[in-house]
Amino acid sequence: MPKHPPEPFRIKMVEPIRNLSQAEREAALQRAGYNVFALRAEDVFIDLLTDSGTGAMSQHQWAAIMEGDESYAGARSYFHLAEAMREITGFRFFVPTHQGRAAEGILSSLLVKPGQKVPSNMHFDTTDANIRARQGVPVNLVIEEALDPANPHPFKGNMDIEKLRAFIEAAGVENIPFGMITVTNNAGGGQPVSMENLRQVSAVYREYGIPFFIDACRFAENAYFIKVREPGYADKTPLEIAREMFSLADGATMSAKKDAIVNIGGFLAMNDEALFERAKQALILREGFPTYGGLAGRDLEALAVGLREGLDETYLAYRLGQTAYLTERLAEGGVPVILPPGGHAVYVDAGRLLPHIPHAAFPGQALAVELYRRGGIRGVEIGSVMFAHPDPESGEMVYPDLELVRLAIPRRVYTQSHMDYVAETLIEIAAEAEALRGYRMTYAPELLRHFTARFEPL
Ligand SMILES: *Cc1c(COP(=O)(O)O)cnc(C)c1O
Repeated sequence: MPKHPPEPFRIKMVEPIRNLSQAEREAALQRAGYNVFALRAEDVFIDLLTDSGTGAMSQHQWAAIMEGDESYAGARSYFHLAEAMREITGFRFFVPTHQGRAAEGILSSLLVKPGQKVPSNMHFDTTDANIRARQGVPVNLVIEEALDPANPHPFKGNMDIEKLRAFIEAAGVENIPFGMITVTNNAGGGQPVSMENLRQVSAVYREYGIPFFIDACRFAENAYFIKVREPGYADKTPLEIAREMFSLADGATMSAKKDAIVNIGGFLAMNDEALFERAKQALILREGFPTYGGLAGRDLEALAVGLREGLDETYLAYRLGQTAYLTERLAEGGVPVILPPGGHAVYVDAGRLLPHIPHAAFPGQALAVELYRRGGIRGVEIGSVMFAHPDPESGEMVYPDLELVRLAIPRRVYTQSHMDYVAETLIEIAAEAEALRGYRMTYAPELLRHFTARFEPL
């Protein structure tokens, strides 16, 4: 098989995109206060802001949409989804939700009591926020290797088992309503979790009687990483591996906008019948009747088909190959990136590329703006704009270790020549990196400031 397998599809419908002139892009940046979240999507040439809900559906998914059953209760489309859920996850019960955070919200509202702690390798920001919204404490216990951008560990999403045990002993089982693990680890670079680690995590949670939920947004990409990187799995299909992953847990939350390749959707699944009964009541209050959740019948159909397509081996080889291709081209071209390549995104190390720009002048922001200014490409800063905060005691600013720009790759949307264009633009920027200047923040809201902050060039 080629190292970077070509797209296993051909294109039958196209959405035109255009690259504005540099002068137009400069004007768009000014209007946006140099925050790429404030750009109009139409002014972006290649949009790598997120892989969430931005994938291209297949002809089978569009055909299924035409057959959506919009009945309020007991729709045929629900049973199609239930069949796919049983086949792939094996969980006894599930409720559909409009997206991942709704599933997390329901789970947290049912199980988390004030002061209780929820361990994971790394919680994604919506999971973190949903636990905190119930006065709970999210705790991240990923292995140390995950924090070193150059460490080639094949499963940098793994949980540190010793830390997990020590954490449970210190916190006390009664203060841990459930445990989680995120596959792949989005907040930690889209890095996978090994089956061996999942087995160990599951064994520890079971030993202490702690219910175990998988944040399964990228379960199919994780399954394929296991197939190619973990001894003993080369001859298994992604479906077999996914089933084994799910068999180790008591339930899962999922944003179907990721590996189920739909534009909206999610679910909360579990084996505990009493919990399911409570989840249905919470669902009716917030999302909708248990056979549709927050979705239309047509969405349930697209989701049922997408769950299966996301596990297609040829697709997964292409998908992870595309991310690896961009990562490797950048590394060869002298652009510092997090290695090894993750599943859904490439992470450029702006801190290393722009050592002359201090944290306080936002090197990641400078790079994200330059990517758009020069190439019409939109990525997202994951650094001081997102995470710097004043120390509650000294009032001094605390900066994150890494200043990154994430380039998330939508599924089945961009071709290899788009990736070449992204690589060439970044390599050009890297060659003249010392000319880039930092930014000053002119407006920042108190919470989640990266979405709406405004900037001025220094
Ligand atoms: C996207 C994501 C979520 C939240 O899902 P939404 O559909 O955006 O609400 C939760 N966990 C992980 C790992 C994610 O990537």
